[in-house]
Amino acid sequence: MCADASDPLVIRSLEFLGGMASPDGWRPEPQLPEIAFAGRSNVGKSSLLNRLVGRKKLARVSNTPGRTREINFFKVNDAFVLADLPGYGYARISKEQRTAWKPLIEGYLRRSSQLRGIVHLLDARHEPTIDDRRMLDFVAELGLPTIVVLTKMDKLTTPRAAQRLIAIPADLEVDPAQVIGFSAVTGAGRDDLAAAIETLLAQPSWKEATA
Ligand code: GDP
Repeated sequence: MCADASDPLVIRSLEFLGGMASPDGWRPEPQLPEIAFAGRSNVGKSSLLNRLVGRKKLARVSNTPGRTREINFFKVNDAFVLADLPGYGYARISKEQRTAWKPLIEGYLRRSSQLRGIVHLLDARHEPTIDDRRMLDFVAELGLPTIVVLTKMDKLTTPRAAQRLIAIPADLEVDPAQVIGFSAVTGAGRDDLAAAIETLLAQPSWKEATA
């Protein structure tokens, strides 16, 4: 782990605050800036968060049975709150469970006054799913700043990786400058992602900015 002075996101402390289980359920007081992480199940979100913060505790909490369907909140460095959104679109669960994430995630995104942005994860190898597109459309409509991260880049050859970094933003009509390639195995993209998060945190809430 890179924890030197040049690291834009040195993690000094990480505290689990609790989970939000329903759209009007408990959530932490919105005092600190928040950054949300979203993606379909198995996209590599736990692995990315582990790499980003260098703490196994985070993935351990978020993967605890009963917590996988909740939004899990972590306070980082007493400076910001990381909101780990439930993975969506897992095929082997009931249709009811498959759509349960929508009101929870959308309600949270719509009503969180301190939210600075969302990090949306996509598997670099696959085409974005219908659920991915719906989520991206939803955050675009809200005007929420978005970073798109392509995960598992180590599974691609270098030319293929370069090609996906162009093709996916073109397909989704997002600015390629918003897209970061990432590998939890090699650590590639970790510092770029940390820097992009720092930039989002330095900005005023998008709600205030658009008010
Ligand atoms: P989550 O369900 O989104 O939290 O996904 P996980 O982090 O649990 O990862 C799902 C699977 O993909 C696991 O088998 C991981 O080992 C694997 N995985 C995640 N990130 C990477 C990566 O960057 N490279 C490779 N090769 N495998 C990864």
